[in-house]
Amino acid sequence: MPLPFVSLIRCTVLFLLFTSLPTWAEVDEETLKAALTKAHQDFSSVTEGANASYIPYLKDVDPNLFGIVAVTADGKILEVGDTKFVFGIESISKVFVLALALSQHGPEAIQEKIGVDATGLPFNSVMAVELETERSVNPFVNAGAIATNSLIQGKSPNEKWDRILGIMNSFAGRDLQVIEELYKSESQTNMHNRGLAMLLKSYDRLYSDPLEATDLYTRQCSVGVTARDLGIMAGTLANLGVNPVTKKSVVKEELVPRILAVMATTGLYDSTGTWLYRTGLPAKSGVGGAIIAVVPGKLGLAVFSPPLDVEGNSVRAQKVLESISRDLHLNLYDAAE
Ligand code: GLU
Repeated sequence: MPLPFVSLIRCTVLFLLFTSLPTWAEVDEETLKAALTKAHQDFSSVTEGANASYIPYLKDVDPNLFGIVAVTADGKILEVGDTKFVFGIESISKVFVLALALSQHGPEAIQEKIGVDATGLPFNSVMAVELETERSVNPFVNAGAIATNSLIQGKSPNEKWDRILGIMNSFAGRDLQVIEELYKSESQTNMHNRGLAMLLKSYDRLYSDPLEATDLYTRQCSVGVTARDLGIMAGTLANLGVNPVTKKSVVKEELVPRILAVMATTGLYDSTGTWLYRTGLPAKSGVGGAIIAVVPGKLGLAVFSPPLDVEGNSVRAQKVLESISRDLHLNLYDAAE
């Protein structure tokens, strides 16, 4: 056989070999996409739960919207369903404002000035402030989140806001915007949060003007995100604080375990213990209907589906993340291969 013909056959065989045998990374990606697709199919018929109604805007969001996103630590984005719809970030913003407060003040100050223990009480509990000597208790209940917001440094409310939105933008890798209608809706109905802020101030556990802090907190909750944005934000935590898409460092690597610890212990309101027991993943939910979860070093996950259970966690999002965690052996407490 003439030599050029032999090398042509050899090249063709090698080409077929490499295109039919995917690399390890490609296998991983396919497996991941299959797990997302399966979860979307399995849980799209779930109709339990109801949209949050105490903030009027949230009541009217289409309850059928359903999106799942995974972002790997090396920046691959996999998405299924309604991943481009913009909704209110709500309590998930608390993760990123904590990141900012940690960056500005360090971990010891957060433990001392806010606290990092679970309350075992609802997220907006006045009782928790009264019962706990730390008062603000942790950065993810409303009292502690407003207190965390009150720690953000800046010469004016505008400068503080620019920093808060700035860190959220860096986590997302794009310029996010407040959903003005949601901000208005929340501002008209946030008397309880204003009360919490005043109460904290009375105990010297709020570090700026209480109404200013509540307003900035309300604004941070009204930032519009997509499930894709949240996937990248979770992916940034999975990638040791470096945004896996923009490759920019957003928060110092050594602060990430502190953030994940608070997510693991208080991320899903007062059912966080049950959540961790079932998934083994640090996560954070918001009453807008999303949950993010982080698999350190590997993956950020985000699921959006507005109907919530009584604790305030998206029903479908919990089921999806539990199923993905099980299917891909993501539970951090499970060392078995
Ligand atoms: N803005 C909401 C509130 O302050 C956020 C609640 C949440 O998502 O947990 O009540």
